[in-house]
This record gives sequence, C-alpha cells and structure tokens, in this order.
Amino acid sequence: MSRLHQKVALVTGAARGIGAAIATQFVKQGAIVFLTDIDDVLGLQLAVGLGAQASYQHLDVREEGQWQIVCERVLQKHGRLDVVVNNAGITGFEQGFRQHDPEHASLEDWRAVHQTNLDGCFLGCKYAIRSMRAKGSGAIINISSRSGLVGIPGAAAYASSKAAIRNHTKSVALYCAEQGLAIRCNSIHPAAILTPMWEPLLGNDAEREGRVQAFVKDCPLQRFGHVDEVAALAVLLASDEATYMTGTELNIDGGMLAGTAQRPTMVKTN
Ligand code: NDP
Repeated sequence: MSRLHQKVALVTGAARGIGAAIATQFVKQGAIVFLTDIDDVLGLQLAVGLGAQASYQHLDVREEGQWQIVCERVLQKHGRLDVVVNNAGITGFEQGFRQHDPEHASLEDWRAVHQTNLDGCFLGCKYAIRSMRAKGSGAIINISSRSGLVGIPGAAAYASSKAAIRNHTKSVALYCAEQGLAIRCNSIHPAAILTPMWEPLLGNDAEREGRVQAFVKDCPLQRFGHVDEVAALAVLLASDEATYMTGTELNIDGGMLAGTAQRPTMVKTN
C-alpha cells in the first residue's frame, strides 16, 4: 500500500465526491496530500480525519493569486510538489435547472462554467509545471469527462469546457516533453459516477430510483460508477508505474463510449 510513498500531492475540489476519494486513496498509498476546495468546513473535516499525512488549504481554482500562495506554501514546507490533480468542476446546475443548450444558454452561465472547469485547469497546470520544474518531474492529472468526448446538447458549456481540458492536457504533455521535463500530464474521463454532483438531478423523492434507472439505462454495466473506481486510475497515473504515460486519456464509463445507445437490430440469416 505505498505506491505513492512520500509523494507530495495537491488535489482540487477535494472536500467531497471524486476529489475526496482521490485524496483518501493517495493518503492510503503513502502520499502527503494537500486537500484544497472552496468548502472549507467539509475539506478541513476530511483532512483531519485522514490524519497527519493530510492537510487542508482553501483554494478557489479560478483565482490565480490563490494558486500562487498555495503552491508557495507547499514548496516552503516540502521543497517539492510531485502530483497535482485538477479535479474541481461544476456542471452549472448546482442551483437548479438552467438552460444550457447552444441556443438559450446565457453568456454569463457559459462563462461561469468555463471559468471553474477550464480556467481552473489551465491555472492548475501552469502552477504545477512551475512548482515541478526545479525537480524536473511530476504528474498532472486533469479530470475531464465523457462529456469532453461527445456533444451534450442540454449541457453545452460543461461539454465544451471538458473537451477543452482534454485538449489542453495534450498541449501540456507535449510542452513539458519539449522542455526536457519528466512532467507527465494525462486526463481521466469519467461518466455517471455517483457523487453529490448528481443530487440536484436525482432528487430525493419517490421518483429517485426511477431517475437512477433512466440515467444508467444506456450504460452497458447498468449502474453508476463508484468514486473509488475513479481514484484507482488517479493512483495509477500519479505513481511511478505510469512513467511512460503522457498526453493519454483514460475513459471510465461502464462501457458507454465503447458502442452506441442505439444497438443494431440483429437480423437472423440462414
Ligand atoms: P462534486 O460536486 O461532488 O465535488 C466538486 C467539489 O469541487 C466540491 O467540493 C465543490 O465545492 C468544489 N468546487 C466547486 N467549485 C470550485 C472552485 N471554484 N474551486 C475549488 N473547488 C471548487 O463533483 P464530483 O466529485 O462529481 O466531480 C469531480 C470532477 O469530476 C468534476 O470536474 C466533474 O466535472 C468530473 N466528473 C464527474 C462525473 C460524475 O458523474 N460525478 C462525470 C464526469 C466528470 P462546493 O460544493 O462548495 O461547490
């Protein structure tokens, strides 16, 4: 259980959901983990529960000044930063339903989603490279989405921001390689992972189970994914088992992208 022995890691959006699972698995694998989020109460509570290997810092990923401060603190304390996970993200539906289709989405809503998801990831990569440069190695893991690979008409801003993260990951990977740095950058593309992000869509009434079934209907494995299943990929990409992986995208979606929701009709021939 020490695949990340003494690696210094920073995880954004780590107070809950996928980020919390990644931070927890990193600690279990021997890493020193800086959990960051804008939900300070939940983030601090989780970090305290994880013990001496974990600590919490407030970091709004949209704010460049905060990235500077947090990375400086990490470097002052440990002299290096080995892993950055750019996980923080929003759908734009946190406060309830909004029109996010290409015809009706407001510019304000479009920008808000990109500011957190894309600007946050851009800044995370920028300060990760700067913090890792002295050592010359490290791992950057960007949490994109299946929505970064296919169009989502009702969540166009989210899909656009996640597609841009996928592409930026490859630019970062190539840039670091060109610079002669062993800083790897890869993206993870989850789909339908049961986290608090889904709560506004699932609701808590008698129809909840029906909505769950509707959401997983087109998933070959017929279920939501678990946060630990995503965290396992992050552990792999952060570890020295993945030193030849850069610019790669890993899908974790119960098989959704393997085929099409409209299955071809099987016609029996003689
Ligand atoms: P959650 O909403 O459960 O957790 C996201 C966390 O990020 C929350 O703690 C949230 O804080 C925090 N956060 C929001 N905005 C900021 C910000 N500006 N700076 C720092 N932290 C912030 O999401 P998930 O765990 O489900 O998702 C994590 C990542 O995985 C996201 O990037 C998401 O897009 C991606 N993903 C998730 C999928 C899923 O099915 N769950 C599928 C595909 C991708 P607060 O609660 O205070 O807003």
